[in-house]
Amino acid sequence: MKREKSNQEFERAKRVIPGGVNSPVRAFKSVQSTPAFISHGKGARIFDIDGNEYIDFVGSWGPLILGHAFPAVIDAIEEAVRKGTSFGAPTVKETDVAELICNMVPSVEKVRMVNSGTEATMSALRLARGFTGREKVIKFAGCYHGHVDSFLIQAGSGALTHSVPDSMGVTRGTASDTLLAEYNNPESVERLFSGNQNKIAAVILEPVAGNMGVVPPAPGFLDRLRKLTQENGALLIFDEVITGFRLSGGGAQEYYDVTPDITTLGKIIGGGLPVGAFGGKKEIMDYLAPEGGVYQAGTLAGNPVSMAAGYAMLKFLNDHPEIYKELEDKGATLEEGIRENLGKTGIPGVVNRVGSMMTLFFSNAGQIYSYKYALTANTAMYAGYFKLAVENGIYIAPSQFESMFVSYAHTREDIEETVAKNLEALRILKNP
Ligand SMILES: *Cc1c(COP(=O)(O)O)cnc(C)c1O
Repeated sequence: MKREKSNQEFERAKRVIPGGVNSPVRAFKSVQSTPAFISHGKGARIFDIDGNEYIDFVGSWGPLILGHAFPAVIDAIEEAVRKGTSFGAPTVKETDVAELICNMVPSVEKVRMVNSGTEATMSALRLARGFTGREKVIKFAGCYHGHVDSFLIQAGSGALTHSVPDSMGVTRGTASDTLLAEYNNPESVERLFSGNQNKIAAVILEPVAGNMGVVPPAPGFLDRLRKLTQENGALLIFDEVITGFRLSGGGAQEYYDVTPDITTLGKIIGGGLPVGAFGGKKEIMDYLAPEGGVYQAGTLAGNPVSMAAGYAMLKFLNDHPEIYKELEDKGATLEEGIRENLGKTGIPGVVNRVGSMMTLFFSNAGQIYSYKYALTANTAMYAGYFKLAVENGIYIAPSQFESMFVSYAHTREDIEETVAKNLEALRILKNP
């Protein structure tokens, strides 16, 4: 596979952009590789500037559930952009989008638009603190909620209760207000509640974790968190930036039938443009300025081009609920194919999947329930697998701890080709 042009462009980019990329994972560092520069996408496929073609399972990291350049979305963007890109004044489409979201996600009675998932979780946290008058927040190791200081936190050595910054530039003061629990371990949450009575504003989590690789909630886990937060006067925040509109029209909360107090959204909601949102019960949302005392704002929030893209995307999903059944079927076919391939080659692996989100962990742990299990994965093996996949035209995430996303645009043939190439790659990994 030719990579000359991409390699040249990467060198050029590195001179003027830190690491050559505008988001670190794009540099392919964790798989000791360098990125292809993409020229365009169509349906399930992307094309790079050297003329290589790939079946894409990254889907811009989640937003492109209908595939690249989906006609209804592109038409809506074209129509909107001709009328002007931003006014900083109300437009009707903002209400259309808000109504649609409130209809699709019933726990969301009011919703505020922002520009990214990070902004959504940052604002949701401030809102939860303002509403409860409490300062601490519980998050789960391995869950990602954007690059908000309060969420760039890891467990310190020793007790889980001592949190430390997970990035330079995050203060220890901030870290001390974020408490870390273990995913799928409700007792770890109970312990934090009993050790911090009347101090915890919220529990935030990905209802299906997608950022430590895919880790589904164990049966009863989400219900248990719902109960624990209620009993302790804390809010339950579902970060549905990935799962919103992906697992079903109503997201993971509909899929698992658990109702959070606040929901954060992003990715799919923007149809591929930069959008995020957070919403919830009226009495909570009314704490936001200008009604209430929790300040939150955005110059470009709800801008007409993003709203047009998001509306077209959500409307299509809302009008075609059968898409979710189709995504489930394609996901299941991919999962079964990869499982069989693991069996045929004898390579140890765990395949976790919920609907159209899936991760193949190169781990012999048998099951991956939480971050500490995810960390058993052999990342060197993943790096080898990644290179073989990309070389064969299958574009997957350049990290073991991410999800593969199946889209409406993937055909049965795309899935079959992917399973066949997965087998080839696993055979080479087994006998290099
Ligand atoms: C991607 C992601 C975010 C951050 O969204 P950005 O738009 O990248 O800021 C937050 N939460 C989850 C679960 C995500 O996957």
